[in-house]
Amino acid sequence: METIFSKILRGEVPCHKVYEDDRVLAFLDIGPLTRGHVLVIPKEPAETLDELSDESAAAIGRVLPRLCRAVKRVTGVKAYNVLENNGPLAHQAVFHVHFHIIPKPNETEGLGVGWRPGKLGDGESLAAELRAALAG
Ligand code: AMP
Repeated sequence: METIFSKILRGEVPCHKVYEDDRVLAFLDIGPLTRGHVLVIPKEPAETLDELSDESAAAIGRVLPRLCRAVKRVTGVKAYNVLENNGPLAHQAVFHVHFHIIPKPNETEGLGVGWRPGKLGDGESLAAELRAALAG
């Protein structure tokens, strides 16, 4: 699917580039939740994380901690969230995989998370089902 990030990758839309290698591009979010909000994207055009190749996933995983360290150093903010949304219901607006690095300077700024934990009732069977899905 053609997205704004495909255009950024092709150089047709400008961005404030932070990092680039063969498989990964990182740039500043145009609508930052806080100063230092960075997006990290694969060059591979996958819509959601489950569609991403192992190679692109590994390339992003390799560079993410380094980018987080740079964001911490430059902003001076120690707390941060790494967020990756998949599907409109999960707040994905751009349908090209992207990881947000969002500094959390205080209670009110940065990412707000609604987290209502439930009870794990069927842990054993659920984990078995997931193991089977991974094997299959
Ligand atoms: P999401 O809701 O996870 O899909 O987030 C999409 C993000 O892309 C938002 O935080 C937008 O501010 C950001 N975004 C959209 N267009 C651009 C752009 N041209 N340059 C940088 N960031 C962008």
